[in-house]
Order: sequence, then C-alpha cells, then structure tokens
Amino acid sequence: MIQKCAVSTCNSPSTCAERRHIKKLIHTARKKGVPNHGIIRWIHRHEGELVIERFTADGKVASSLPCVMCKNVLDKYKLKWTAYIDNRWVKSSDTDLPDSVPTSRQSAIVFKRGKRYEADKITRSAT
Ligand SMILES: [Zn+2]
Repeated sequence: MIQKCAVSTCNSPSTCAERRHIKKLIHTARKKGVPNHGIIRWIHRHEGELVIERFTADGKVASSLPCVMCKNVLDKYKLKWTAYIDNRWVKSSDTDLPDSVPTSRQSAIVFKRGKRYEADKITRSAT
C-alpha cells in the first residue's frame, strides 16, 4: 500500500499498488488539463516522495521493496520513494539499495521462470 497524505492506493490482484498509484496520478493530471510534457513535473509537485508500505495479515510491517516493473515506472517518472526491506527503511537514493526482483506471478508470466512457472508447466504438460 502506498500512503501519502490522504491518498492511498491498495494492491489489486493484477497490478501492484505502486503502478496503479502512478496511473491514477497521470489520469488526474490529464483530467486537470495538464499537457503530456508537463505531467512529470505535475506529479513531482503533487507527490514529493512515495512511502511504500505493506503489512502482513497480523499487522506487522512487511517487505515493500517495489518489484522490477514498478521500479522501472518509478525511475521513468523520477519519483523518490521509501520502502521497507530486511528490517530497515531504504530510500530510492540509497547507494546500497537491494535489487528489485519480480513478483512470483511476474516471474511466471513475463520472465517465464521460477517455481510458479515450473508448477504451471507441469500442469500444462499433464493436460
Ligand atoms: Zn510492482
């Protein structure tokens, strides 16, 4: 979940909250009549920095490092963010930032690797 002031966006089964949040910002900018070349600047004005938080079912802070696909989008819009991983908060500007990894679903669908894909493959060949 991303939270900033009163605006928050939650995960959906298909896309992570990070990318949905950015999409929402672009949509709002367009609605306000911001021209394409002004959208990045508009987003920066409205979103100084994203705080990416995820919680486990029992309410503990969970690892929230953006996945590779979200990180690409965040980089594209040059957005600063803070996320939680390995029991610490990291910033997009940190030099020792851990590498983003694809989610298990992305591994399976986009990168065609990982346990989930292997499991799928077994099911597919069995049918
Ligand atoms: Zn993501």
